[in-house]
Amino acid sequence: MVETYGPPVITGHRIPPFEVAIKWVQNNDLAVEKLHHEADMYAGLLHPLQGYLVPICYGFFVGEVDGAQVACLVLERCKSSTKTSNDEMIQRQRAAAIGLHRMGVVHGNLLDSRGSHFLIASDGSLRIIDFTESKGHECDAISTPSVELHPVTRYSKCDELYWLHKRWALSPLDK
Ligand SMILES: [Zn+2]
Repeated sequence: MVETYGPPVITGHRIPPFEVAIKWVQNNDLAVEKLHHEADMYAGLLHPLQGYLVPICYGFFVGEVDGAQVACLVLERCKSSTKTSNDEMIQRQRAAAIGLHRMGVVHGNLLDSRGSHFLIASDGSLRIIDFTESKGHECDAISTPSVELHPVTRYSKCDELYWLHKRWALSPLDK
């Protein structure tokens, strides 16, 4: 669900309106808990990746509306890819997934998504979304020196990268 908000005022200057993505849940304790976890990830491990590999997070809000418990996460609006060629998109998704692991995060759901967790920001760069299942991760595939092992062997040290590798038939990891 996407909505447009009135522009905020900062130090006397009005920022032009911009669109955001709203991810919200209601009356579902588990869903609220997962969204809270996602907000914590954006505020923590994902913070340095906002606006780069993951959407900018503008805030997390909880409250009660007409007796219903509501929680929402306000994020940079991104869109599905339509123009990029398949090969190029796979390479970009690959680089983004490796970048995420390099920064110490495992997504936890990339294998289920068939690419739907990769979106395009307004500047054309790629964003990975949906971190409800994500967690901190010391990636043994990334930390292994690239000259030592065959890529398949190296990827086997990390489930998420291994199965992405199988799906995309990836070439060896970049430095
Ligand atoms: Zn990993």
